[in-house]
Amino acid sequence: MLDYHVHTHYCRHASGEAKEYVIEGINKGLKEIGISDHYPMCHLPQLSYDDYSMDQQEFPSYKREVDQLKKIFNSKIDVKLGAEVDYLKAKESTLRKNLTSEDVDFLMGVIHLLDNWIIDDPRNTHKYLEYDLNTFYSRYFDEIQNLIRSGLFDIVGHIDVIKKFNHIPDEGIERYIMPCLESIADKGLCLEVNTSGIDRPVKDTYPGKKFFKIMFEMGIPITLGSDAHKPSEVGRHFEAILKLLKNAGYSELISFKNREKELTKI
Ligand SMILES: [Zn+2]
Ligand SMILES: [Zn+2]
Repeated sequence: MLDYHVHTHYCRHASGEAKEYVIEGINKGLKEIGISDHYPMCHLPQLSYDDYSMDQQEFPSYKREVDQLKKIFNSKIDVKLGAEVDYLKAKESTLRKNLTSEDVDFLMGVIHLLDNWIIDDPRNTHKYLEYDLNTFYSRYFDEIQNLIRSGLFDIVGHIDVIKKFNHIPDEGIERYIMPCLESIADKGLCLEVNTSGIDRPVKDTYPGKKFFKIMFEMGIPITLGSDAHKPSEVGRHFEAILKLLKNAGYSELISFKNREKELTKI
């Protein structure tokens, strides 16, 4: 079993050292853990809060720390070095430049930012009321399509996090998410099944459980992430979700080494 979405204190809104997450992973029987803290948001516009990611100059020490953990825990668990990276079409060329020199095991592309505010921050939920949800969803998933086409990432993370606070258009999410799943299948990209949404107002995974079978039938490779922001959240809800993924047909999860895909049986 693996967990490919784990944060650390570096991002300023999670608690615990990377080492504590690794130890928690070992205690929960994981064979592999991908540390994927928030990549520096230096390529993004200035935001109202400054506790979303580490600073640019901290990334080297984050990498060094995770690389050391690989060696220390080598016999107990496979530690991988990754990052959760904010994509924005308008900043794609800067981001591309920044990412070319990063020697990591995997990069997870996500969208947190639309119209210069972070859409999954509980401090911003009132902002949803200012929008027509159909328009807002269209724009969010257009940006997800841009992320997929960019070719910058190994994994698409929490693909429909826009539903986190349960602001969902009347017609549902299918018409927005399906074209993105098709693009992911075309590109052979890996899709994260993120279990953190179960603990949020929407009470569902990202993407939702009802898509698991469709994803399998489309041939979409998946990985699993808890989006842990404290060590105790490592591997949260994995047992129940794995059962559903197996029922949908999945028998393998994807992991990465030096940005190359590897398969892990579930
Ligand atoms: Zn976070
Ligand atoms: Zn995220």
